[in-house]
Amino acid sequence: MKYIMVTGGVMSGLGKGITAASIGRLLVDMGYKVIPIKIDPYINIDAGTMNPFQHGEVYVLKDGTEVDLDLGHYERFIGVELTGNHNITTGKIYRSVIEKERKGEYLGQTVQIIPHVTDEIKSWIRRVVEESDAEICLVEIGGTVGDIEGMPFLEAIRQMKIEEKPEDFLLVHVTLVPLDSSGEQKTKPTQHSVKELRSIGLQPDAIVGRCARKLEEGTKRKISLFCDVPVEAVISAEDAEDIYEVPLMFRREKFDDYILSKLGLEKREPSGEWEKMVEKLRSLEEEVTIAVVGKYTDVQDSYLSIREALKHGGIEAGCRVNVLWIESEGLEGKDEIEIDADGILVPGGFGKRGAEGKIKAIEYARENDIPFLGICLGFQLAVIEFARHVIGWEDANSSEFAKTKHAVIDLLPEQKEVDELGGTMRLGDIEVTIKDNTMARRLYGREKVYERHRHRYEVNPEFISEFEKHGLVFSGYSDGGRRMEILEYPENRFFIGTQFHPEFKSRPYSPSPPFVGFVKAAFGLEI
Ligand code: GLN
Repeated sequence: MKYIMVTGGVMSGLGKGITAASIGRLLVDMGYKVIPIKIDPYINIDAGTMNPFQHGEVYVLKDGTEVDLDLGHYERFIGVELTGNHNITTGKIYRSVIEKERKGEYLGQTVQIIPHVTDEIKSWIRRVVEESDAEICLVEIGGTVGDIEGMPFLEAIRQMKIEEKPEDFLLVHVTLVPLDSSGEQKTKPTQHSVKELRSIGLQPDAIVGRCARKLEEGTKRKISLFCDVPVEAVISAEDAEDIYEVPLMFRREKFDDYILSKLGLEKREPSGEWEKMVEKLRSLEEEVTIAVVGKYTDVQDSYLSIREALKHGGIEAGCRVNVLWIESEGLEGKDEIEIDADGILVPGGFGKRGAEGKIKAIEYARENDIPFLGICLGFQLAVIEFARHVIGWEDANSSEFAKTKHAVIDLLPEQKEVDELGGTMRLGDIEVTIKDNTMARRLYGREKVYERHRHRYEVNPEFISEFEKHGLVFSGYSDGGRRMEILEYPENRFFIGTQFHPEFKSRPYSPSPPFVGFVKAAFGLEI
């Protein structure tokens, strides 16, 4: 097994995840089987309870594990489907060590970070590798070298380096190369962070320098000299027009050649699939504007997969998608609103804040026949909007927000019993059945699909017939018809809602059908 470890220095947010994902893409493009693992040194067991304001989007894997958004980059770039095993957190490692200790598995020893915690980390990584049929394992260590939380993980990596053969182990360090006021590329922060790595016994094999501009030859030579890596292993990662350009940038830098020769792997002809997709993206001339009406719009990373899925839909539809972020609370309390966009998307969310503004945006889309896509909470609010303004139940609401006679969105009885707020979300891949002769069926072209879920509330079965009488169609369902999964309003050109999150399965080379339909409709194309 070949290991590529990716660490980061100087500061967070340098794009370590994109770097790791891009390395993965280069390798799978040549036909190598790659398995990625993300290490998040926080103490949370998973990202389920984390606030998207702080952390960006919570991504959901097929087995329902809620993870950091970097796992989304891996799935999109590398084309694999991951599970909770591919995300290691301090919380998971300690939980497992403590469980073993309670069971007496340490035979009376004092349980310590070295060797017990580090052993647990190494065996977790090796277990994931064994269970896969991969040839290369890519491990990204979250955080920045020097962070106290990351130390046990870096120590485990250091031990692995000794235990594995030298040609099976490659350490890539991602750092920042800032520009000074005269525009000169400064290498000192890189030197310092490599020094930090060395102090814990790790020497990078390659350095990826993040910079606003392409690294100059002189800068590369300096980094090579001071950090003791060959000059061809100093890789420029300048700001890119689009993240999908990064694998091609690495190829330009001959990073693939260096990685292969270090790991003793043969060079193979790349498939060209990624390149073709990027070419298409670059050549898009026409544009559409999609308004995303949400509540974390200041932190655009909280809707990262939606932004990506819109882009994928655009590649397929033949247009560039501009996103107009609209803070839903700002729409509240106004008699008339106006949204200047070709399509309106209401994403998922939790809690009451901003919900009324989103309902206003949905009403605006429905009444003005503007293409609409509602996702999860956006789907639920479309049901509420319809109940209030088409059926005429003014008090219609979700029991997440209010107690009302017309709780059109409600917990199912079994869920009510176990859950008032706690952890009983419906998570991960679930089979959805799509009815014949519907827009959804046309988009997917299939009767059964698997889509990812993350929610608690459902369309209340009590009211379904009344909705259908008024022209709303529930075109997709799950659980033998007990749960509504897709809605559409055939009066309009494109008005679709999904209880699931199609954005999590969208890939740049295989876009999500609802997103393709939505962007096409916004672009004025027939579907
Ligand atoms: N808050 C809603 C629920 O729990 C919607 C969740 C979401 O949009 N992810 O059902």
